[in-house]
Amino acid sequence: MKGNYVIVRHGKVARIKDGLDRDEVLARHPDWRPCVKPPSQSAIERMIENCSATATDGCRGVDPDGTCQHGCEAWPLFYSLI
Ligand SMILES: [Zn+2]
Repeated sequence: MKGNYVIVRHGKVARIKDGLDRDEVLARHPDWRPCVKPPSQSAIERMIENCSATATDGCRGVDPDGTCQHGCEAWPLFYSLI
């Protein structure tokens, strides 16, 4: 998984500043988890309408209120929108 985003807690994503290495940041914050860039609000609404969502690790075709095979929440569930 590539990117500069981390889950700092349920419903809260942070972007890692340019120049910082995500792996080093995660090593300092064991409770944080990597994630892909969060989708827009309208994209999340479409996931709910289509009953097919993307998970926080980027897996597609996940139930909007479920998790992917890696245990990562779908974005609508992550943001408590469903
Ligand atoms: Zn996954």
